[in-house]
Amino acid sequence: MPIFEFRCLQCGNLFEKLFINPKEEVELKCPECGSESLDRVISKANAVMGSGKGGKKPRLTSKSCSPGSSCHTLEIPGAGD
Ligand SMILES: [Zn+2]
Repeated sequence: MPIFEFRCLQCGNLFEKLFINPKEEVELKCPECGSESLDRVISKANAVMGSGKGGKKPRLTSKSCSPGSSCHTLEIPGAGD
């Protein structure tokens, strides 16, 4: 299961987000201060996944889904085949 690690640019809090559904849209916010200014941290789990199918890495895309908040979608190569 893909786990992404994020660091809050606002307060420096480090937290993990587990993506159960690859196509699920999730709202990513810092659990501490609620900021959406996040930096993605490359963790071990990502390195393992990156060595999978064709060496393609899961991609996290963000878009705004409603005013004032953004949604993130995780795309895993090969998962939709
Ligand atoms: Zn924060």
